[in-house]
Amino acid sequence: MTKAMKIAVLPGDGIGKEITPQAVAVLEVLGERFNHPFEFDHGIVGGEAIDQTGVPLPEDSLRLALEADAVLLGAVGGPKWEGLDYAIRPERALLGLREELGLFANLRPAILYPMMTDASTLKREVIEGIDLMVVRELTGGIYFGQPRGVEKIGDEEKGINTLVYTTSEIKRIARVAFEVAQKRRKRVMSIDKANVLEATELWRKVVTEVHTDYPDIELSHMYVDNCAMQLIRNPKQFDVIVTTNMFGDILSDAAAMLTGSIGMLPSASLGQSASAHRPSCLKGMYEPIHGSAPDIAGQDKANPLATILSAGMMLKYSFGLEKEAALIEKAVFSVLEAGYRTPDIAAEGTRVIGTREMGRRVIEQLK
Ligand code: NAD
Repeated sequence: MTKAMKIAVLPGDGIGKEITPQAVAVLEVLGERFNHPFEFDHGIVGGEAIDQTGVPLPEDSLRLALEADAVLLGAVGGPKWEGLDYAIRPERALLGLREELGLFANLRPAILYPMMTDASTLKREVIEGIDLMVVRELTGGIYFGQPRGVEKIGDEEKGINTLVYTTSEIKRIARVAFEVAQKRRKRVMSIDKANVLEATELWRKVVTEVHTDYPDIELSHMYVDNCAMQLIRNPKQFDVIVTTNMFGDILSDAAAMLTGSIGMLPSASLGQSASAHRPSCLKGMYEPIHGSAPDIAGQDKANPLATILSAGMMLKYSFGLEKEAALIEKAVFSVLEAGYRTPDIAAEGTRVIGTREMGRRVIEQLK
C-alpha cells in the first residue's frame, strides 16, 4: 500500500480558521482525483492554543508538525492576545515551528494575474507579466548573529548586531535557489552588498562555487540597493532572487506589493529533511503571507486564494506533484478570469463572493 502523505493542518486564529479549510478541501479533491493518499491531522496554534493550553505552540501540535511530511498553516494572532508577554505571544508559535522544523529557506513568489493588474500601484506596462520568486535565507544572518544587544559605555549606549554567514549556511540556501530555478525559467539573481560587507563577499563567492553544480542555470549578482531600485523599475527582469535574511525580509515585501493584493500571496518555508516520498523534496511549512485579519474574521469575507496557492506550493516543493500544483494555479486563474472576487480584490465589473464560495468555485475547476 502507498504510504500516506501526512499533512499537519494548523489553522490558527481569526481568518486562519476560514481559509485553511478551503485549502484542505482543494487538496482532498486533488487527492481523490489523482489517487494521492493525503492524510490530514489538525492541531491548534497561536491565540487559540494559548487559551486552551497556556502556550502558543503546544507539544501535541509541535509533534504533529514534526511527524508530518508538510505543514499547512493559516495565521496566528489577534487583539485579544496583544498584551501578553513576548515569550508567549501567538507569533511565537511561528518562530517555534521554524526553529524546530529547521526551516532555513523562505520562498515567496510574486505573480501578477493579468486580470488583477489594476490592483497594483505601479503602471501596467511595468508590472504586466511579473512572475518572480524571492528565496530568503531564514535562520542566519544579522537577525541571529552574535554578539548582539545594547551595551552601556559611560554616558553612551551602544547597539550591536552581527552579520554572520558560514559556508554551509550559504551553500544550502544557494542549492534551494538553483533547484527552484530548475522548476522555473532557470535564472538566479543573487543579491548581496559585497562592495561593503565581507560576510556578503563570502556569500557571493560561495553562491558562485555552488553554481558550478548547476550548469543549466544562469547566475547573476546584484547589489541590494540596485535590486530595490530594479524591482520597482523593471521587475520583469527577475526569475529567482536569492538573498540573506535581512535583505530578503525587505525585498520580499517590496516584491509582494508589486502585485498589490495581500490575500493572494502564498509562501513556503523549507527545511532540510527530505520528504519520504521524494528524496529531492524538502519538508516545508506553507502559509499565506498575510495575518489573521481580525477586522474581517468570522464574516466569510476573507480571501482564501493565498492559502489555496500555498497548498499548491506544498504539492510542488514537498511532494514533487508539479502537475497537480499547476492545476491549482490554473483553477485560481480561471475563477479570477470568470470575474469572481472576494471583497479585498473586488473591482468594477467583478462579482463579489465570500470565502466559502471562492473555495467552492476553485474546486469546481478541479473536478
Ligand atoms: P493582516 O495581514 O492580518 O491584515 C492586514 C489587512 O489586510 C487587514 O485589513 C485585513 O483585513 C486584510 N487582509 C489580510 N489577509 C486578508 C485576506 N486573506 N483576505 C482579505 N483581506 C485580508 O495584518 P495585521 O492586521 O497587521 O495583523 C493582524 C494579526 O495578525 C496580528 O495579531 C498580527 O500579529 C498577526 N499576523 C500574523 C501573521 C502570521 O500568522 N503569519 C502575519 C502577519 C500578522
